[in-house]
Amino acid sequence: MSIKTDALMIRVTKVGEADRFVTALTRDLGLVRASAKGAQKAKSKNNAATSLLAYSKITLIESHEKYVITEAQPERLFYSFGSDISSLALAQYFCEIAGVLCPWDEPAEFSLRLLLNSLHFLTEGQKDPRLLKAVTELRLLAEAGYMPNLTACAACGEDSSPLYFSPVKGTLLCEQCTPPSGDICLAPATLEAMRHILSCPLEKIFQFSVSDDVLAQLAHVTESFLLCQLNRGFKTLDFYHSIH
Ligand SMILES: [Zn+2]
Repeated sequence: MSIKTDALMIRVTKVGEADRFVTALTRDLGLVRASAKGAQKAKSKNNAATSLLAYSKITLIESHEKYVITEAQPERLFYSFGSDISSLALAQYFCEIAGVLCPWDEPAEFSLRLLLNSLHFLTEGQKDPRLLKAVTELRLLAEAGYMPNLTACAACGEDSSPLYFSPVKGTLLCEQCTPPSGDICLAPATLEAMRHILSCPLEKIFQFSVSDDVLAQLAHVTESFLLCQLNRGFKTLDFYHSIH
């Protein structure tokens, strides 16, 4: 059976001299592992379209529970970050977390569009990378079912600040309910930004601005939440931090 969809290449490995094996985030099938015969050759028409961070229209054939990319037409190549190694590192981190958080074998249109938007803004260089990172982390987590409860104190229902966020539990506690020392005392603007990211339609999700301090806290909170929920580290994230 042949399937036409569009896809972002989030992991690409060489197989022998000529072939490639890719993990792609597709609109209709979510994450898919597929081989691309001959795509490694410079002259292959599928070479650019199946390279890392390429967004392409692809045709897949499923045979023996494996996918093969028979055709790939590049729509946009996101690897032209020039000398900005920091943006490239962040883009690769987005790919790595998408590979963990997005579903296999079911549609993933929202997550794909979110990722494409993040990469677009990252490439344009007009939005703070910490904002893009926070939005991508928190909303991909929520889409994958890791939805924090940011309504009010989980113990008593108090909803005025200061409220403390637990990256482990994904809940808030107020000061009277004695939050553990690892919980993060959220600036009101940080909490507001997190609520915005979780509830906003994609078209407006990147449209907020906060002070530098709030942005630093937001980036810290969403990263802590991601690392605690997934209980693992990411090489691409370590690399991103190592060049800062
Ligand atoms: Zn409370």
